[in-house]
Amino acid sequence: MTPSDIPPPTDFIREIIDDELRAGKRGGRVATRFPPEPNGYLHIGHAKSVCLNFGIAAQYGGTCNLRMDDTDPAGESLEYVESIINDVHWLGFDWADRLFYASDYFEQLYQFAVQLIKAGKAYVDSLSADEIREHRGTLTEPGRESPNRNRSIEESLDLFGRMRAGEFEDGAYVLRAKIDMASPNVVMRDPVIYRIKRVPHYRTGTQWVIYPMYDFAHCLSDSIERITHSICTLEFENNRPLYDWLVNELITGDRPRQIEFARLNVSYTILSKRRLIQLVEQGYVAGWDDPRMPTVAGMRRRGYTPEAIRDFCAKIGVAKNDNLVDIALLEACVRDDLNERAPRAMAVLRPLRVVIDNYPEGEAEEFESANHPQNPAMGMRKVPFSKVIYIEQEDFDENPPKKYKRLGPGREVRLRNAYVIRYESMKKDETTGEVVEVHCTYDPSTRNGPPADGRKVEGVIHWVSANHAVSAEVRLYDRLFQVPDPAGVADDFTNHLNPGSLEILPSAQIEPSLALAPPGAGYQFERLGYFCADLKDSVAGKPVFNRIAPLRDSWGKIAVQGKR
Ligand code: ATP
Ligand code: MG
Repeated sequence: MTPSDIPPPTDFIREIIDDELRAGKRGGRVATRFPPEPNGYLHIGHAKSVCLNFGIAAQYGGTCNLRMDDTDPAGESLEYVESIINDVHWLGFDWADRLFYASDYFEQLYQFAVQLIKAGKAYVDSLSADEIREHRGTLTEPGRESPNRNRSIEESLDLFGRMRAGEFEDGAYVLRAKIDMASPNVVMRDPVIYRIKRVPHYRTGTQWVIYPMYDFAHCLSDSIERITHSICTLEFENNRPLYDWLVNELITGDRPRQIEFARLNVSYTILSKRRLIQLVEQGYVAGWDDPRMPTVAGMRRRGYTPEAIRDFCAKIGVAKNDNLVDIALLEACVRDDLNERAPRAMAVLRPLRVVIDNYPEGEAEEFESANHPQNPAMGMRKVPFSKVIYIEQEDFDENPPKKYKRLGPGREVRLRNAYVIRYESMKKDETTGEVVEVHCTYDPSTRNGPPADGRKVEGVIHWVSANHAVSAEVRLYDRLFQVPDPAGVADDFTNHLNPGSLEILPSAQIEPSLALAPPGAGYQFERLGYFCADLKDSVAGKPVFNRIAPLRDSWGKIAVQGKR
């Protein structure tokens, strides 16, 4: 199939849109939006929403706006706005000139509220937050009307104007929609739509001391932008009648339609901004872009590609029921993507010195090695070889088990892309008993193929030439939490952080071609996994590599135990 023959994904949201288009609704227009609140960095759950909203717009020839849903000044900032803009672009989406801010609509939203009051559909209440809660009733009992519910329109208009003018303290008054205190849906029991909050806003400063509530601002911002389909997560299902009530009262013509889908949860991590902020602020991670974070910034720094993240979002699809997606699926998408495009290279994480006794002192040669075994277009590189090399400590065993295919007393092994070597002797540290150097001999007949005498050498290990290798710091990242569902634990979720989520190897040895690896670009280190030079800390001459993912789906120290 050519790409254009691949059917676009389908799901219940696209089916709704198809039905509407068939019925000739909305003049065939499709306009979506991605509406983050700039009070944190975007995470993989947001990425799902980004892919969904921008994906639908692209598929139906429509538009998708990027809207900062910035109507609650507490916790919002320009830093977050900038990170969101950067992350959505990086994920591969473009909103052209349609970047909007709900805070730009403050005056319009205020006028909508005035309109509601004038229609007798909203009133200023002076009950406290606690009293409003008490009056609200329960799921089984109706609410009670506030004594201020029948305040005159003039009086409410006057008070609302004075709320805006800053005459009152926080909490002294609120504006409530006048709907139905007996509604079976608690959301509809005269919800608060404006409150006094003397907190400066990162864009409007101290211009406003009243701010609209989410339920009021969101549906009207959608309407102002002429959004057709307002896609949000399931927890807003109960709020949909309020969404519809407000747009019906205030908007004429085509009204946006809210459609809810299940929010993404991913195992072994946490996708709540509040908790992610806690991890950052309390220093459990090094920042929003710590490579262990499920944030877009963290995944980018880890070396995940936008293609892999989009592939993951397409694979998980869009459902109506909450679910927990296995993080292994995300990791598999990352591996599949990198397996195709990451050049191969050799690096030794925990070096063991090997001296080739019969190789001439001071000499060196180069092996032409393919950058990708299945893709000749990715070219070749030269890998230097000399008398002293490093191999992985785990690739030598002084008492090898029978089926061991690596190096040990009496064993032979092939050095990847180079010669077969045979064990001769070893040197140990006298105090620790640790093997510190292994001596071998090489078989010159094996330069371009199997041994001349036909004997079989099964094992293949990776290596670097000691004189040519570059020392690098390698950071081995693992899952951030030890339990599959850290959001669901009974105690503090930080008790379940994985203490082994970061292991730093200060002096790994990497082949010289990696010394100038561009930060962010992924490589497959042969037999070890996928790695990239760190976007922040890696500098020429002092490279720092992050492990993106091990080769296979097993989170051991070295995933491959000598098997080829
Ligand atoms: P959090 O609960 O982590 O604070 P939020 O929903 O408050 O997240 P917003 O900035 O309001 O964060 O989210 C912007 C958009 O991203 C919303 O449309 C929201 O529905 C969507 N979104 C947020 N989290 C997820 C998730 N886990 N899965 C899918 N979509 C999500
Ligand atoms: Mg939100």
